[in-house]
Amino acid sequence: MRVFKFGGASVKDANGVKNLAKVLSKTGHKGTLIIVSAMGKTTNALETVVKNYFENKDELQSSIQDIKKFHNQILLDLFENERHFVFNTVKLLFEELSGFLKTNKSPDYNFVYDQTIGYGELVSTTIISHYLNEIGLKNTWLDVREYIKTDNYYRRANVEWDLTQKNITSNFDTSQLNITQGFLGSDANNFTTSLGREGSDYTAAIFAFCLNATSVTIWKDVPGVLNADPRYFENAKLLNQISYREAIELAFYGASVIHPKTLQPLQRKEIPLFVKSFLNPENAGTCVSKGKTLDPEIPCFIVKKNQILISLSSLDFSYIVEENISDIFNLLHLYKMKVDVIQNSAISFSVCIDNIYNNLEKLLQHLKAKFKVHCHENVSLYTIRHFTPKAINELEVGKTVLLKQLTQETVQIVTK
Ligand code: ADP
Ligand code: ASP
Ligand code: MG
Repeated sequence: MRVFKFGGASVKDANGVKNLAKVLSKTGHKGTLIIVSAMGKTTNALETVVKNYFENKDELQSSIQDIKKFHNQILLDLFENERHFVFNTVKLLFEELSGFLKTNKSPDYNFVYDQTIGYGELVSTTIISHYLNEIGLKNTWLDVREYIKTDNYYRRANVEWDLTQKNITSNFDTSQLNITQGFLGSDANNFTTSLGREGSDYTAAIFAFCLNATSVTIWKDVPGVLNADPRYFENAKLLNQISYREAIELAFYGASVIHPKTLQPLQRKEIPLFVKSFLNPENAGTCVSKGKTLDPEIPCFIVKKNQILISLSSLDFSYIVEENISDIFNLLHLYKMKVDVIQNSAISFSVCIDNIYNNLEKLLQHLKAKFKVHCHENVSLYTIRHFTPKAINELEVGKTVLLKQLTQETVQIVTK
């Protein structure tokens, strides 16, 4: 039993879907579970729908219409017969979404977000499942919400492992080709939940863990895990092999090629993870497995843009000690700020955060009551694993360094 994951970039149009089928034909498709994300940038588009629902009702219908049109074009490109029932199945899914938005009474943004966002994956897997059946790759479409159970921490739900394991063990035919949605789960009341942006990799790992899969392969638009994000760094090089530990570190610091939660379940059962190019499926890509040393041994660069650096100092030159630090962390937790780096001295405390939930203003207000607060928005956080002096120097050229922190293997630099 193998698990394959195809991300949004791999199925961004009809050619992407045809290519997915080609990959399956080349690698064999029996005994495979494929996890698929929403097509292209559909999740972003659905985020706009949620925003419009709460803040800009005038644009709501047209934002839904755009998503329908995008998928309809893909359907027209894939299916010659416009009376194929996939057209109707997709239409019904969009009607379900509109119906939810019409009747919803909940003012909870995160709840509405998860009920809405899931349609990206539901529609993509519906289209792909029908297409594969049409060309003879017989498969079963599964609703992932009947398998992955979570708490109701909407937008970043936590998996209820025992229930999930039970559902998967009792209700899954491993011999055939199965297809299901990444990123989603459901809570105790069967409402849709999501596992955090880019969470489809994690879905692949959850199934692999519960099914004792022999491997997971994430199919990407890059040759594998590179030593830097090719969008921001020239000459990024392929890493042939890395250990789970290294991959966990890279993902933790923000290498967006693998979702950070993905590695832990795989590592626990020593299930190897391959990251490969969907354009060149025969190439080896990157193998992530136990105890493998980084090959080649070179510095790895990670950048997170759009971060916020908050520097605090005491109002009266008193020391910042455990008690204040505990207050600060309580507030960061309360406002769901993701902490990237912290640094403290006798009378100051700096923290670089990711403002995912848009709570910055509220946080600052709270902090200003107790501290002198300096806030830099829109900073970049660079991390270099296995750094060399040369790598640091080259990175710092032309940038203003606001904070720098070195440990044995890792340097982190916040720049403006
Ligand atoms: P998916 O469609 O599977 O969700 P993503 O677009 O999320 O794929 O991830 C693939 C992208 O990740 C690549 O196109 C690349 O720009 C980016 N990326 C960031 N860091 C790395 C890295 N270290 N190695 C490879 N790709 C990386
Ligand atoms: N579609 C979701 C997202 O864009 C999940 C994923 O692609 O992994 O975040
Ligand atoms: Mg992605």
